[in-house]
Amino acid sequence: MGLLALGTPLEWPEAKKRADQVREWGIKQLLEIWNKAKGKERDALLWGDEVEYLVVTYSKSNERVLLSLRQAEILKALAADQELAKAGGCVPALQDTTSSENHSLPVFHPEFGRFMLEATPGKPWGIGFRELLDVEPDMKLRRKIAKDHMRDDEYPITLTTFPQIGIPGQFTEPFYPVSGPRLRSQFVPDEIANPHIRFPTLAANIRSRRGRKVQVNVPIFRDVKTPNPWKDPTVNYDLHDWPEDDDVRNGAAPDNFIHMDAMAFGMGSCCLQITFQAKNIDEGRQLYDQLSPLGPIMLALTAATPVYKGFLAGTDVRWNQISRAVDCRTREELGEENNRWRIPKSRYASNSTYISNDSRLRQEYMDPNLVYDPEIKTKLMDGGMDDRLATHFAHLFIRDPIVIFEEDLQELDLTKTDHFENIQSTNWQHMRFKPPPAENNIGWRVEFRSMEIQVTDFENAAFSVFMVLVTRAILSFDLNFYVPIKKVDENMERAHQVDATLNEKFFFRKNPFPLRPSRANTAFGDDSRPGSAIPSRAASPGAVEDEYEEMTINDIINGSQDGTFPGLVPIVESYLDSVNVDVETRCELATYLSLISKRASGELDTTARWIRNFINAHPAYAQDSVVGDEITKDLIEAVVTIGEREASSKGFADTGIPGVEKFLGKFRSGRADAAEVPQQPAAALENGV
Ligand code: ADP
Ligand code: MG
Ligand code: MG
Ligand code: MG
Ligand code: MG
Ligand code: MG
Repeated sequence: MGLLALGTPLEWPEAKKRADQVREWGIKQLLEIWNKAKGKERDALLWGDEVEYLVVTYSKSNERVLLSLRQAEILKALAADQELAKAGGCVPALQDTTSSENHSLPVFHPEFGRFMLEATPGKPWGIGFRELLDVEPDMKLRRKIAKDHMRDDEYPITLTTFPQIGIPGQFTEPFYPVSGPRLRSQFVPDEIANPHIRFPTLAANIRSRRGRKVQVNVPIFRDVKTPNPWKDPTVNYDLHDWPEDDDVRNGAAPDNFIHMDAMAFGMGSCCLQITFQAKNIDEGRQLYDQLSPLGPIMLALTAATPVYKGFLAGTDVRWNQISRAVDCRTREELGEENNRWRIPKSRYASNSTYISNDSRLRQEYMDPNLVYDPEIKTKLMDGGMDDRLATHFAHLFIRDPIVIFEEDLQELDLTKTDHFENIQSTNWQHMRFKPPPAENNIGWRVEFRSMEIQVTDFENAAFSVFMVLVTRAILSFDLNFYVPIKKVDENMERAHQVDATLNEKFFFRKNPFPLRPSRANTAFGDDSRPGSAIPSRAASPGAVEDEYEEMTINDIINGSQDGTFPGLVPIVESYLDSVNVDVETRCELATYLSLISKRASGELDTTARWIRNFINAHPAYAQDSVVGDEITKDLIEAVVTIGEREASSKGFADTGIPGVEKFLGKFRSGRADAAEVPQQPAAALENGV
């Protein structure tokens, strides 16, 4: 999403008064889109990824790695060169891109953190299988272009979080004191946020609406020498600059939790998102539903977030931290005091609705306690929207708009979608159903948002391509992954556990194959689409509880031991068997599927496990959960080195990331218990970094 136009943002007390107006206008704009686009047909099956980066400064001679706050300057330099390249000028940094004919330049976007960047392909990817092989080179190119517009000591890296975010002196110059008026954080300065007025206003108004600072507490990972109880040593109980400084005195920082207190701790995390365009609204609704249960599975499989604020965490993923970092709910909405309604989730959370017209969607899968605004639902239905979709949007519209620009409230413009997008784009659910924007000819899209970013572009391409292939298999085989939406919530929690891939079980549907005639072999052809008038021959439904069971990630991805569940990778393989893919493409795709498969089986470590192993084997680590300067520097050095190595080679197609031991080899002699570090196979050492 591009940046909204500048204007005068309202502070929360004023914004609150105008919230109803924004909702009302947003609904009118939504109905306008709905009426214009509900019958849109035959849109192309396009898709696109989003990769987010941290920008760090690193040099061999500096003892610390720091976060660079030069997002704006870097983006400006990128934009200037891209303009020049478009105009036909010769820009050495962009030569790789411009040399290829039908390649368009990647697009760089700002992000919440002033130390972050986002990059997307220059245009969405098409349906062709060969195009799937362009993704990894394009991601590498994006990284190279980004790097070429940074200082020599700055690097774009794809870690979800900076291990020492919130530790004093974490930024490049100039020095910014913490505890600014917007965030009022005791750990990070206001300058950590993108200075575009939208972002500090977002953070300030969330805090203000909530009535206290956000409370981002992550359990500490309890190692052998971690004190018990553990008290976060970085918390200052004696600050008196802001009323919010009372938060910690009122219990915001309980024992055994790493305590964080600002939006930047969550929205400063990087992720990997994929957006799919469907051929029409029905297919979009089907994809939204079928991809939903995969959200927590892919979150667990991409786990990459074991460190916060210089401490090892007792969880492996970023999700709940972001959720808490933007949790604007008031005490009333949290159920601490009486109110119109209690809201069970933060506006950043797993989604609570299914929206398809699929006849296989049973009422029992829905959340019986879903909170939605009945008046908004009525308005949408009066405007012609069906019950299910109206319920979905009436659920999103329980939220207040957080950032409102005075200028936008003068006149309702029905050719725009700004008020609708205001609410929609601050409902950060793990799936997003994106209606066609007003301006151009884009179709109905669905975004898959749960995955964590991986260290290498090989891995990021592998997970992106895997999700594309799963999506194609869903459509081609009319797969059915429905489980009750509350089970998806439960799975989301389970995905947080350390090594969830190895140790947790997840609710998953036993039989994903359709119980109604599939499109491929039915006389009804396309008329058997969900929502059609022709009745499906669905088998008589049994108990919902019998439809699913608890499975490991390995069962879900590779198939269950007893063969009852086929596994997503085998399903993708049979999909590939059913279509025409040339041998070379098939071989390349196999390296991606192999990575996914081995991560799921535990043969290869998740990124989170890799980071934990790295820290654990580091001589400066004292088994007390503390991740200090030296470890952080070596970890970032490893990540930077991997990036450089990947840029100049074909990547790490066997393992995703090279074994931790490679980087820690230099410490071996210096560490008494070095024997604990597993030995690296000789072959891997030979082509080592
Ligand atoms: P947001 O941040 O709102 O999710 P972005 O514009 O940053 O959106 O990224 C959306 C992704 O969707 C990009 O990868 C882009 O290439 C891709 N995309 C753009 N248009 C389409 C389309 N019509 N269909 C599918 N994907 C698209
Ligand atoms: Mg984006
Ligand atoms: Mg965005
Ligand atoms: Mg983003
Ligand atoms: Mg983001
Ligand atoms: Mg996105």
